Amino acid sequence: MSRYTAPLADMRFALYDVLGAEAILTNLNGGEGHTRDLLDAVLDEGARFNEQVLAPLNKSGDQEGCHFEAGTVRTPKGFKEAYKQFVDGGWAGLTAPADMGGQELPESIGAVFKEMIDSANLSWGTYPLLSHGATESLKAIGSDWQKEVFLKAIVDGRWTGTMCLTEPHCGSDLGLLKTRAEPAADGTYKIYGTKIFITAGEHDMTDNIVHLVLARLPDAPAGTRGISLFIVPKFKVNQAGEQGERNAVACGSIEHKMGIKASATCVMNFDGAEGYLIGEPNKGLAGMFIMMNTARLAVGLQGLGLMERAYQNALAYARDRLQMRSLTGAKRPDKPADPLIVHPDIRRMLLTQKAFIEAGRVLTYKAFVLVDVAHRGADETTRKNADDLLGFLTPIVKAMMTELAVENCYHALQIFGGHGYIQEWGMEQLARDARITTIYEGTTQIQALDLLGRKIMQVGRGECCTWRRIPCRKTGHHPLLLRPDPAAPRHPQGGPREWRRQHDGV
Ligand SMILES: Cc1cc2nc3c(=O)[nH]c(=O)nc-3n(C[C@H](O)[C@H](O)[C@H](O)COP(=O)(O)OP(=O)(O)OC[C@H]3O[C@@H](n4cnc5c(N)ncnc54)[C@H](O)[C@@H]3O)c2cc1C
Repeated sequence: MSRYTAPLADMRFALYDVLGAEAILTNLNGGEGHTRDLLDAVLDEGARFNEQVLAPLNKSGDQEGCHFEAGTVRTPKGFKEAYKQFVDGGWAGLTAPADMGGQELPESIGAVFKEMIDSANLSWGTYPLLSHGATESLKAIGSDWQKEVFLKAIVDGRWTGTMCLTEPHCGSDLGLLKTRAEPAADGTYKIYGTKIFITAGEHDMTDNIVHLVLARLPDAPAGTRGISLFIVPKFKVNQAGEQGERNAVACGSIEHKMGIKASATCVMNFDGAEGYLIGEPNKGLAGMFIMMNTARLAVGLQGLGLMERAYQNALAYARDRLQMRSLTGAKRPDKPADPLIVHPDIRRMLLTQKAFIEAGRVLTYKAFVLVDVAHRGADETTRKNADDLLGFLTPIVKAMMTELAVENCYHALQIFGGHGYIQEWGMEQLARDARITTIYEGTTQIQALDLLGRKIMQVGRGECCTWRRIPCRKTGHHPLLLRPDPAAPRHPQGGPREWRRQHDGV
């Protein structure tokens, strides 16, 4: 069976020594109490929870999978009890606002804890995963009533959130979505349509589930400009926030899939379900992007968590397993053969894994430190700059960490040889589980389009080097880092080559 020990020393090294997070976090607005002692104690406790509660359920969850019967989903043995421990331990609201019942700890500490969950049990981690994104959306654009009723229940872990975007005919291209929202006389909406592949759309861990659903109003323009965002609870909720009768939303089936078998991937049917508009009509995509960006970084962490577990096991196995002699003479003459780790190609794979993890951890944690600064930095400029850089890094973290995770798990499996291919050691599970991370929350191709199309080309427009996506040779300015400068030279007619000739003299 594969094992997991939280790499606390490596995590602290990346966060505190490389990124200097202690000074950054204590200087956040309201961050005076974020001392290293406090945060270290949280991480120690988080490691215990993950090693002792979630990690032992990883293999059994994969083997048992989820059960679907007459519209209900039963999660594998032990999952529900683990969720109760998660809630009782206060982990559900770790980074949520204090006035909503959360502990308001830094997102970067939440990220370290989440990395541990993703190593310990990726499937289990998908149940609270989208609650975090729902929290961010509701916090930003929810009404007071929605915050009071739905946000608080999600923060204290009583209810979980989902993200309902995908439909049978539309995945990457959300402009095609057809789910309808019809206004009702009492100010609510009736939601009709089918969403597929909805993570944790139905489960037995909480009494209620809060679906965040993209749908179109009757007069909505075509494409992404006509999408609105709605809350659709599994059980209706009255004005006082009390849970009432069952809403007209139900799980039609769950998917049978390659990996994360203990995560319920649901077809959700909305048959006139009562929904509540979040934010403004036809502006739903903006709200959903708040949720998606949070989720994209969270999936980047999934990649990191999987890599760490795969590496830990591959390293232990390579030290233990004796096969053949080293090319430079026996290293363990007392044994019948040398351990795998003496062989150059095994070392190459282990070092590749280690390099991915160390560099990837710093990059990913950096993004979460930026989240903290963007939310709670000392002044407007600091927050804005952090948010700009975060926007640029988000597709990189999502795409890079997940593509590397697939490669990393492949190396781990290879190091185990035939023992990696069979179920006993858990490497094939990691390889199967890793595969989805490059697909959901926007495929790698969609991250590439986001990076180039929105984060580079659009930001570069209107600045001194309008035509170019490379640093200006005269000023050294990089288009990504510039603000519009009215005094900057404008591009003459004739296209980039002509401009370059005149501007740079080349
Ligand atoms: C296990 C699982 C869980 C999921 N959880 C959720 C969830 O909770 N909520 C939710 O709403 N959805 C969820 N999804 C859906 C997931 O986000 C989509 O599968 C994903 O966005 C891709 O959409 P698609 O499958 O329709 O592929 P398509 O959009 O049809 O794309 C097919 C291929 O074409 C590529 N492609 C598409 N357009 C372009 C382009 N312009 N340039 C280059 N390549 C392109 C894609 O990258 C992909 O490789 C989940 C999916 C799975 C399998």
